Amino acid sequence: MISKIKNEIIKYSKMLNSRKLSALRSGNISVRYKDGFLITPSGKKYSTLKNIDIVFVSMNGKFDKKKGIPSSEWKFHQDIYKNRKEAKAVVHAHSANATAVSTHKRGIPAFHYMVAMAGGHNIKCAKYATFGTRDLSKNILKALIGRKACLIANHGQIAFEENLSKAFELAEEVENISLQYITSLKLGKPKILSLKEMKKVLSKAKNYKRG
Ligand SMILES: [Zn+2]
Repeated sequence: MISKIKNEIIKYSKMLNSRKLSALRSGNISVRYKDGFLITPSGKKYSTLKNIDIVFVSMNGKFDKKKGIPSSEWKFHQDIYKNRKEAKAVVHAHSANATAVSTHKRGIPAFHYMVAMAGGHNIKCAKYATFGTRDLSKNILKALIGRKACLIANHGQIAFEENLSKAFELAEEVENISLQYITSLKLGKPKILSLKEMKKVLSKAKNYKRG
């Protein structure tokens, strides 16, 4: 079981590179496991990752240093698992377009109904704090209230879901929406969908999931 999850983490880590969500070793991926989570290691290129490199971190933030050092950004993974029971997998990426929007310290409004994929009528942008800090965790948790994905100012994006393939797909969707938003801004100010319309979209999306 554990090796199956580790293999899945490696597969999707390599896809961070191949799907152009994050270059070389930036970004990180984790999956909830027992009383903690399995996460990509610090500073290793995804193309070289082996099963043994994936690190277990307990929900209390403990890990066996002899077995490897987790990504320097493990704290926000821990805080998401602690605070969002529904989160089973987390994908964090420095994808080009989401990062570009995040450097303007702005989220993405309902310029397209697909922003609802992140769980609400807009995609929020977490305030900047130094990577790997509890302050950054706090800011991310705030931007994730009622959402499963957000941008992180001057940094990138993060998405969680009930499994890794869905979390990865959501991160890809956030990147795609970010590209569309940037493109739309080139033509001027896009027309934003009303809250009423977005409520309809959100309830449709919920029913669609159930069906
Ligand atoms: Zn990062």
